[in-house]
Amino acid sequence: MRRQVAVVGGGIAGLTLAAALDPRRFAVTVHEAEPERAGAGFALGLWPAALRALSRIGAREAVAALGHRPPGAGLHTIAGRRLLPLGSPPLIMVQRPDLLAALRAAVPPEVRMSSGEVSDPAALDADLVIGADGVRSRVRPLVQPSAAERLPTPYVALRGLTTLPVRVREIGEYWGRGRLFGIVPAGPSGAYWFTSHRSALGPEPLDPEVVLAEARAVFATAAPIVRTVLDRAGPEVSATRIWTAPPMRRYVRGRYAVIGDAAHAMTPNLGRGACEAIIDAVTLAAAMERGTVATWQARRVPLTQGYRVASGALMRLALQDLRRQ
Ligand SMILES: Cc1cc2nc3c(=O)[nH]c(=O)nc-3n(C[C@H](O)[C@H](O)[C@H](O)COP(=O)(O)OP(=O)(O)OC[C@H]3O[C@@H](n4cnc5c(N)ncnc54)[C@H](O)[C@@H]3O)c2cc1C
Repeated sequence: MRRQVAVVGGGIAGLTLAAALDPRRFAVTVHEAEPERAGAGFALGLWPAALRALSRIGAREAVAALGHRPPGAGLHTIAGRRLLPLGSPPLIMVQRPDLLAALRAAVPPEVRMSSGEVSDPAALDADLVIGADGVRSRVRPLVQPSAAERLPTPYVALRGLTTLPVRVREIGEYWGRGRLFGIVPAGPSGAYWFTSHRSALGPEPLDPEVVLAEARAVFATAAPIVRTVLDRAGPEVSATRIWTAPPMRRYVRGRYAVIGDAAHAMTPNLGRGACEAIIDAVTLAAAMERGTVATWQARRVPLTQGYRVASGALMRLALQDLRRQ
């Protein structure tokens, strides 16, 4: 008899899980509130461990073919002085819509895709309910009631693509008091760039043009590449406050489990959120097949909660921000 699995959220974590579960043993339904969002988003850096995990669902080649390996990277002061050459990092930059398309192609035809928001996961008729529903997860409080609310950070992020030619020496991150900028080639569409700075703007949704205007003022004394990118950017940039998940002691309770940002949303500084979402999903699928979900939880909670804490610390270090949040 196949076990019924309801996956709440058809983003990176949810699609990877649906692709990884054996349809002969699990009857999977993926519930996605906003299927149209699959075409949106900017580049993500994927580290080797995530690419290895993708090979378990047969998606590694497709993602690697669509991705782009940066030819170099360095750490700079915000004024542009190169502090540390980092060589060519072993990560692949891939556009989020390309990654989601590759994951969707790996999902077996037996999986049912249901569009619509799940307002009450407890009402889902399934043996297992997996929350892959991001930082605002509705499944998370069913796993750990004290972790219902996502946590705001004082930082906003801007992301965009630029066709500006970027020299190898300019690739990488620029750190300075209250400001972080990064730029990395992301294939034929140009270079992917991002900023973070402390901001009181809100509530959401943030107006990208207002955040861009604030960023131009905050980065007014930054390196020429930073100022030129921001000057050329237009309203197509993406602006978000950075939210994190609260600390979690467990990812599984009864028939409920959480993976990806629902379990451990972190600041983007380690570039690991999507990577860990992919790894969560393939390792949970293997554990569900072997009946070792408790062991999965014991391994994944300390590791991913460690990344969540370390990523927040790296954000504060990069922005030299010693204030309490
Ligand atoms: C500025 C920035 C840069 C980043 N850079 C990187 C990077 O370089 N590398 C990296 O690895 N990570 C990066 N990340 C993190 C990465 O984007 C996330 O970790 C990743 O998207 C998490 O995937 P997920 O599937 O867990 O959650 P999400 O992507 O949030 O997907 C959740 C899905 O669930 C759906 N959903 C939510 N609630 C419901 C509901 N009630 N019913 C039905 N559907 C629902 C949503 O519509 C969504 O599609 C970055 C993040 C930011 C903010």
